[in-house]
Amino acid sequence: MTEENRFGVLFEPVRIGPVEARNRFYQVPHCNGMGHRHPRAEAAMRAMKAEGGWAVVANQETEIHPSSDLSPFSEGRLWDERDIPALRLMTEAVHDKGALAAVELVHNGSHALNHFSRAPILAPSDMSSDNVIARQARAMDKSDIRALRRWHRDAARRARDAGFDIIYVYAGHNMTVAQHFLLPHLNARSDEYGGSLENRLRLTRELLEDTHEVVGQDCAVAFRFAVDEMLGAEGMQAAEEGRAVVEMLADIPDLWDVNVAGWPNDSATTRFAPEDGYQNDYISFVKQVTDKPVVGVGRFTSPDLMVSMVRKGLLDFIGAARPSISDPFLPKKIEEGRIEDIRECIGCNICVSADSLGVPIRCTQNPTMGEEWRRGWHPERIAPKKSAAEVLVVGAGPAGLECALQLGRRGYDVTLAEAGEEPGGRVLRESGLPGLGAWRRVADYRLHQLRQMANLRIFTQSAMTAEEVAELGVPHVFLATGARWRRDGIGRTTRRTPPPIAEGAAVFTPDDIMAGLLPEAGPVVVYDDDQIYLAAVLAEKLAGEGREVVFATPASLVSPFTDLTLEQPRVQARLIELGVEIRCNRTLAALSPEEMRLSCVFTGREEALACAAAVLVTERMRETELHQALADKGELVTLELIGDAASPALIADAVWSGHKAARNFERPRAEAEKDWFRRELIDLNGGEAG
Ligand code: ADP
Ligand code: SF4
Repeated sequence: MTEENRFGVLFEPVRIGPVEARNRFYQVPHCNGMGHRHPRAEAAMRAMKAEGGWAVVANQETEIHPSSDLSPFSEGRLWDERDIPALRLMTEAVHDKGALAAVELVHNGSHALNHFSRAPILAPSDMSSDNVIARQARAMDKSDIRALRRWHRDAARRARDAGFDIIYVYAGHNMTVAQHFLLPHLNARSDEYGGSLENRLRLTRELLEDTHEVVGQDCAVAFRFAVDEMLGAEGMQAAEEGRAVVEMLADIPDLWDVNVAGWPNDSATTRFAPEDGYQNDYISFVKQVTDKPVVGVGRFTSPDLMVSMVRKGLLDFIGAARPSISDPFLPKKIEEGRIEDIRECIGCNICVSADSLGVPIRCTQNPTMGEEWRRGWHPERIAPKKSAAEVLVVGAGPAGLECALQLGRRGYDVTLAEAGEEPGGRVLRESGLPGLGAWRRVADYRLHQLRQMANLRIFTQSAMTAEEVAELGVPHVFLATGARWRRDGIGRTTRRTPPPIAEGAAVFTPDDIMAGLLPEAGPVVVYDDDQIYLAAVLAEKLAGEGREVVFATPASLVSPFTDLTLEQPRVQARLIELGVEIRCNRTLAALSPEEMRLSCVFTGREEALACAAAVLVTERMRETELHQALADKGELVTLELIGDAASPALIADAVWSGHKAARNFERPRAEAEKDWFRRELIDLNGGEAG
C-alpha cells in the first residue's frame, strides 16, 4: 500500500456544522502563555500549525468577561470589542494558511482569579475558590445567570466578528463555570439549575443554544466536555453521568471535543501515562451516541494508531495539543510519508510549565516553538550557509546535537565530536531512569536526521583536548560540553559554603547513579537541594530496586518544580507508594559514614538519619576546561559555549541554545543581539484610555 493510501483516510475533509475542515488533523485549544499580552506571537505560532497542515487551529481559553480574569496568566481575552483586533491577527494568519480558526470561550467560574479586575468570583454555590486566594466564590443568582448568558452571547458575536469559524462552549478541566454547574459536588442548588442531571446541565444547554442562535449561521459550535474526572465513583464517570450528558445533548453541538479532567489527567506526562491514546478507554463511547463529529486527544504520535482510531469509528478528528507543539508540521509529514521526520512529543510538559509561569510557550523537542514571531524561527526552514566555513561541535548532548543538526541543515561542513561511547549526553543518561524512556527521542530524532547528511560527521569516543582541536584546524568551534553534578553538597540553601562531609562518607552524585554506580547496602538518603525533577526520579529508581530510601529536601514538597508540569502530586505519591520516607523542610547539616544530620529550615533544630550512602542532588558545574584552554590559545575565529556548559538548565534550554547558536552563526552580531529586545510594546498613542 502506498503511504498516500495507507494514511489517506486522515486527509479526508470533514464537515463541522456550516464549515468544512480540509482533513482530520485538529489542533485542540491549548494554553501558550502568549494570549492577550502577546497577540502577534500567538498569531504567528498558530499560523505555523496551519502551515504545517492542521485543518483546525484553535486558540486557548478566552475570557469572556472581567469576572473571569485569569491575570497574572495570559490567556485569550474577549471582554469587549477592543479585544477583537488582537484576535483577528490570529484568524487572518490561520486562514491565510488554509485552516479553520477556533476560539475557546470561557467563563472560569470559581477557577477565575480576578486579581486584576477585583470582580466577585462566581460559582453555582457559595464555596472556596478553586485557587488558594483569599476571595471566596459566591453563588450565582438568577440575574447572574442571565448576565453570564449575555456575556457568552456577546463574546460569541465578537468571536465571529474576529473571524473565528468554530466557537466553543467549554465544560472541561474542572476550570469552567459550565462544568462547575454540572458536577454535583460543586452544585448544591435547589432551583432548576441544581439537583437532577437535567437541571445541572441546564446552563450548558442554554450556552450551546444561545451560541447557535447568535452565530450558528456562520460558525460551528463546538462543545469541549470532560467525560470523566478520573476520580472513580467520587466524580463524574464516563460510564455514568458522562455518557448521560452526551446522550442528552447528542446533536446540539456541531462538534464534540472530548477529554478527561482535570488538566493533569488530560495532559498527563509520559512519566505517568506512557502510552499514546491513553484517553481512549474513556472517550471511545462518544461516537456511538452522537452523529456529530468527535475529536479526542491522547498524545497521538503514531499515524497507524490515528488511522485505526478513525477506521474503528472512535474519532473523526485526531486531536492534538502537545504533538502539534512538538511538530507543527506533523500532518504534512504524514501526508508526504515522511514519518521518520516527525519530531515526536516526549510528554515532558515543559510547554505547560511556560503557561504555568505566564510566559510564552517553549518545547523540549521543538526549539522554534514560541519563537515564530519574536525570532522569526520556522521549524522546517533555516537560512542557508553564508560561506564554505567548516565547523566543529564538541559534545553530542541535546545542545551539541541540535547545533550540529541545524548547521548541517544550513549546509555547513560539520564535525561533531563526542567523548562518550554513544551520542546523547544527558538525554541518554536521564532517559535510562524510571518513566523517562520517551525522553530519548530528543537524541534519536536528531541522530536520525544527522546520519542522513553527507556534510556531517559524528565521532564518538573522541574526548577533545585543545591540542586536538588545534590539529583539526577548524576555525569555528561550538562547545556543548555540558555540566556535571557537584559532589560537595553546595546547593540552593547552603550559602555557597559546603556542608561538613566527613572522610569515609559514601557520597554519590546523580551522574554516578546514572552511570550505574550504586550504593551497596544500607539506607540511602537522596538529598535534594536542586528541587527540580531529577532527585525524585533517582529516589524512585533506588527504591524500585529494593533499597531503603529516605528523601530529604529543604523544600516543603518533593520536586516543587514539577508543580509547573502538572506532576507534583503524582511524583510525591509515587515515592510514598514505594515506601520512601520523605523529610521536607530539612537542610543538610553534616554527613558522616554512618549518618546524615539534617537541620529544620525554620527552627534549625537538628536530627540524625541513618545513612550508609548519600546521593547529593544540588547544583551542576559547567564543563569549561576546554573552553578556557582554547580561549587561552586565542586561535579560533568562533569559540562559543552552548547548552549546559554555558548555563545549566533544562534539556529544553540546551536544545534552544544549540538551535540559536546555529541560526546566529555568521550573522552580524548587532543584528543577532537585537532579537533579545523584540517584544510587543503597549502603544501609548493608539487605543483610547477608557
Ligand atoms: P547539553 O545539555 O548542554 O547538551 P550534556 O551534558 O547533555 O550537555 O552533553 C555534553 C556532552 O559533551 C557529553 O556527552 C560529554 O560526553 C561531551 N563532552 C564533554 N567534554 C567533551 C570533550 N572535551 N570532547 C568531546 N565531548 C565532550
Ligand atoms: Fe511534548 Fe515536552 Fe514539547 Fe510539551 S514540551 S510538546 S510535552 S516535547
